[in-house]
Amino acid sequence: ELEVAERTAELSEANLRLAQAARVDHLTGLLNRRGFSEEAETEIRRTFRSGKPVSVVLADVDNFKRGNDEHGHVCGDHVLKRAATLLRERLRDVDRVARWGGEEFILLLPETDIDGAAVIGEKLRKTIADNLFEFGDQRLRITMTFGIASFRKGESLEACIARADTALYHGKENGRNKVMIGSYKGLKLVN
Ligand code: GH3
Ligand code: MG
Ligand code: MG
Repeated sequence: ELEVAERTAELSEANLRLAQAARVDHLTGLLNRRGFSEEAETEIRRTFRSGKPVSVVLADVDNFKRGNDEHGHVCGDHVLKRAATLLRERLRDVDRVARWGGEEFILLLPETDIDGAAVIGEKLRKTIADNLFEFGDQRLRITMTFGIASFRKGESLEACIARADTALYHGKENGRNKVMIGSYKGLKLVN
């Protein structure tokens, strides 16, 4: 009986580890898309109840394909890991950072309105642009473009992310290394 109990405990521990692993991106150690979506849904419900704002930021590495071609895929992976760390370090503990896919990251900023998110986006843009990425004997710089949206009353996570994505797209169109707000007034460039 004791053996069965031990085995059951082992199994539930293993299941817990598997469930955790399914929410985390292997390369960067950040939340993955699934992990982010789960946490974001919970967070926006909580923050909505309190009547406070929540913002979403999509951040995409500029011309990353060219960097991979020039410096190699392994170097590209290293850059993604370092960028993930830089983003994480510059944010508050309550903020969520995730790898949304490929060379794209997503942030959830609780209790942060669109102006606050713009300030954070600009801070992050500068952090990335000013950083010298080191890989072996290579030294390189990258830039990222940021698209920002704040939740409207009753808006779904998907709808808010879609607005951030549109802002990101227009940031790219405006020359990259940009922070673009997608608000109810339309698009607005921060930098
Ligand atoms: P843009 O400024 O318009 O975003 O240009 P881009 O080249 O960054 O965008 P595009 O979507 O054309 O290419 C993204 C590239 O990112 C494609 C792929 O080679 C690379 N990539 C995606 N995931 C990974 C990864 O995990 N590791 C590495 N090294 N590269 C990746
Ligand atoms: Mg890109
Ligand atoms: Mg991309």
